[in-house]
Amino acid sequence: MRPQDVIIKKRDGFALTEEEIDFMIKGYTLNEIPDYQMSSFLMAIYFRGMNIDETYYLTKSMLNSGDSIDFNDIVGNTIDKHSTGGVGDKTTFVVSPILAALGINVCKMSGRSLGYTGGTIDKIESIPGVNINLTEEEFINIIKKNKFAIMGQTNNIAPADKKLYSLRDVTGTVSSIPLIASSIMSKKLALKTDLISLDIKVGNGAFMDNKEHAIELAKLMIEIGKRFNRRVIATLSSMNENLGYAIGNSLEIIEAIETLKGNGPLDFTELSLTLASNTIKALGITDSFNDAYNLAKSKIDDGSALLVFKELVKLLGGDISYIEDTNKFIKPKYIIPIYSKSRGYVSYVDTKLLGTISMLIGGGRIKKDDMINHSVGLKFYPKIGTYLNVGDKVADLYMEELNEDIVNMILNAFKLSDEKVNFELILDTNL
Ligand code: URA
Repeated sequence: MRPQDVIIKKRDGFALTEEEIDFMIKGYTLNEIPDYQMSSFLMAIYFRGMNIDETYYLTKSMLNSGDSIDFNDIVGNTIDKHSTGGVGDKTTFVVSPILAALGINVCKMSGRSLGYTGGTIDKIESIPGVNINLTEEEFINIIKKNKFAIMGQTNNIAPADKKLYSLRDVTGTVSSIPLIASSIMSKKLALKTDLISLDIKVGNGAFMDNKEHAIELAKLMIEIGKRFNRRVIATLSSMNENLGYAIGNSLEIIEAIETLKGNGPLDFTELSLTLASNTIKALGITDSFNDAYNLAKSKIDDGSALLVFKELVKLLGGDISYIEDTNKFIKPKYIIPIYSKSRGYVSYVDTKLLGTISMLIGGGRIKKDDMINHSVGLKFYPKIGTYLNVGDKVADLYMEELNEDIVNMILNAFKLSDEKVNFELILDTNL
């Protein structure tokens, strides 16, 4: 078999066999197929798509490129939660402690930020002392003690995906439904939990910009899960505005801690409770969504979810006094308030631009190896459908250097209209 023949077959719109897909993935992982041929292959997939069988073979090949972790000696349900990526998305830090407080084991392997979307690992590392470089044994021990553990992505979980994702990132081939589905599922399947709970993001700050594509992605991941005998559920939520207010590592952690203390922004609290409730219901702990919701909420109200998070930070070597008093987090040199110069209903938020601003001022990575600054970022307040007056605060920019261009970018990141526009945060909970 030659790579160019497989590339040509896909380029011309034909379905590939399991052997052909495996040949490409194995060859690339072993450095036998060069970047230029793989880039061309990815672009052919991007334009021609893949059917469900091909996407399954691709997932299987990437999954089999590395190891798996099983949780056989953990008592009770095990789950993994995953968001397809967005701006201000810190739900892991609220949903997982709620579930753990209910006795559900949450086994979370997470990644770092790249481009305009944040990364769970960078966010939790903004708490001094936290170390997420765990061995499999340490990871499992933390789950046994605390029912919730987070660790960084190891090199031996779906290494083929790791290599391919870096290439996709620089070849314009990220936003392809079969490539996203196989990339996410190869990593999720490697952790052998009883349930995989997905939050599929839709909107201008997400890979999927419309609901139809997001539903297609969700159904594809659920179907792939089935073929591996694994249960997958999905919730669809909007990324047409930032979730909560905070964007940036320590700012998001502080907002998550405040939410666990019961003082979180309404939208962020609502989505976290919804994601937790869908999981609770799917595990059969309650019959109805409403009962699950009340149960989830009770774990914030009684402080037990906060305790789980605190214990996790302690077990990861972090300083829990930052959770007790979030004023301890280091602040950057400047906190610049920005005010509205016009009035009207907020009708549009350029979510991707907000994520890009946080990245440009040092909160994210342009390239994979860039250093990040945990304390910079922004709080962006306008929510779609609310009325903004001249002089109302739009944002607080947390920066190390003054930059007038960034201030102007914030003022261009939203639109106002005379008519009130409706906003739906949760688009589907029954996938
Ligand atoms: N997250 C992933 O892990 N892979 C993708 O392709 C997109 C988002």
